[in-house]
Amino acid sequence: MNDGTKTWLRNAYKEFYFRSSESIEFPEDIGSREFGYIPFGGGMVRHLSFKSRGEALAEILKQSPSSVYCSNARYEFPARPIEEKGWLGAELIFDIDATDIPTPCKKGHDLWYCEKCHASGKLPRPPKCTKCGGPPAEFHGTCETCLDAAKDHTTRVVGFLTGDFGVDPEAIKVYFSGNRGYHLHIFDKRFDVLDQAARGEIADYMRGASLPLSQTIASTLRRRPPSGPQGAGWTRRITGYVDERRQDYGGTLQKLVSEAVSSQRAMVDSSVTTDIHRVFRLAGTLHGDTGMSKARVKSFAKFDPQEDPVVLSARPVKVKVDFHPHFRLKHKDFGPYKSETVEIPTFAAVSILTRGLGEVA
Ligand SMILES: [Zn+2]
Ligand SMILES: [Zn+2]
Repeated sequence: MNDGTKTWLRNAYKEFYFRSSESIEFPEDIGSREFGYIPFGGGMVRHLSFKSRGEALAEILKQSPSSVYCSNARYEFPARPIEEKGWLGAELIFDIDATDIPTPCKKGHDLWYCEKCHASGKLPRPPKCTKCGGPPAEFHGTCETCLDAAKDHTTRVVGFLTGDFGVDPEAIKVYFSGNRGYHLHIFDKRFDVLDQAARGEIADYMRGASLPLSQTIASTLRRRPPSGPQGAGWTRRITGYVDERRQDYGGTLQKLVSEAVSSQRAMVDSSVTTDIHRVFRLAGTLHGDTGMSKARVKSFAKFDPQEDPVVLSARPVKVKVDFHPHFRLKHKDFGPYKSETVEIPTFAAVSILTRGLGEVA
């Protein structure tokens, strides 16, 4: 990324923060949170602390960084090194990313490309560019199927929380991550004190990772009377699914049980849920790779992840693109581009520029 591109990106983000600072959602107890940010082209700055919303906003506007983060934990001394912060508790969080969900479309939009000659092809990535021998890099794209899958798994997390953990739906705030997934913040004090291991158990439960083998479950089901008790939690999910389909199912009971699990588990990223010292993208700020906002999702039925979080301006900019596959934003198609200069809206240019796949012309 050259200096001209860096400055252009910073100005595009600054313009948004200047115009829409009220869309940034600060958590309660600002003074006990750790903040951090990543400047364009720079490394992570952490262990910052602000006394008020005004003070935090002033810094965000001044830096106009690529990403802004805030801890889900509260600390006695948020600006000190981790071991001296004095941890006071942390809201439970979940991260659902389309990258972690096996969707069949990935074969089509995940590619390797050559940084030298801009040739590209399907994964797996060859050791050397098949055309010029240059260094190949990977490109992970996204599509409506992936975004729908992420939405689906997020709905499942909400189902686990309300159905199995007794969480009040009002206590769950869902956000689009700004890229290809969703973040859930749970404002239920029962979870705030949990340590890493306990949070890991919750994540494993949702991923179906702590369940007995499908073979074992199948043999238990075989011994169960045909209209026996449904149980609770996963037992209810599995028996319900199996009972509904068992009659006309062609495969084995074990296979049907596996299906019951894979179609109802939620692929949350365990490493995010279990990290109690994490800084998390601040709600209402822009994603550093896409320029899309970490937007609050009030209604899943109405939320369009290729439209609603697209908040940067449509002002056209000339970009010299090395390589970028087709993508879709605001109901418009862009690309595929290869070694060409194009004039596109600011909101579409950002993801090409941040990934180093082009420069401002
Ligand atoms: Zn090449
Ligand atoms: Zn896809």
